[in-house]
Amino acid sequence: MKTRTKPVLGVLLALLTAASIAVFTQGDAAPKAKGCYMGRYRGDKVVHTDAEWKKTLSPEAYRILRGHDTEKACTGLYWDNHKEGAYVCAGCGLELFVSKAKFNSGTGWPSFFEPIYPENVATRPDHSFGMDRTEVYCPRCGGHLGHVFQDGPAPTGLRYCINSAAVSFIADKADEKR
Ligand SMILES: [Zn+2]
Repeated sequence: MKTRTKPVLGVLLALLTAASIAVFTQGDAAPKAKGCYMGRYRGDKVVHTDAEWKKTLSPEAYRILRGHDTEKACTGLYWDNHKEGAYVCAGCGLELFVSKAKFNSGTGWPSFFEPIYPENVATRPDHSFGMDRTEVYCPRCGGHLGHVFQDGPAPTGLRYCINSAAVSFIADKADEKR
């Protein structure tokens, strides 16, 4: 009997180790962009396999950026964020929007009337779910960010409706201290 308990103990230890690693990783699950790319987008591409994205992104960011999903209204980190700073792609770190272009749309999603530079976001028609919408995605890593609508405020009349989990917020230095 004694010889039989040893492998069981080994398996238990392995499970405990795996569990502690899982807990540690989960604590670090907030979307964090790796290697921020601030300023005008100059055309390089970030390409990963689906398995690599799954490993590097939080489950929520993966579901949205790679799975084209949408987070529930008023559940994301940034819809009610009023701090000054920049919003970068949670997949590749490309700067997408700045707080100066953010407005309260009343939708429960972070909303912007324009991107930091026109080149820094890409759009394409999206006819999914029987709707005619325009998808907004990251031109650098291809990650799905949200949609753009024609009912925004001046000066553009556009409303970029973006998922919080698809972006990371980088506060301006002065705002960090508040
Ligand atoms: Zn990206």
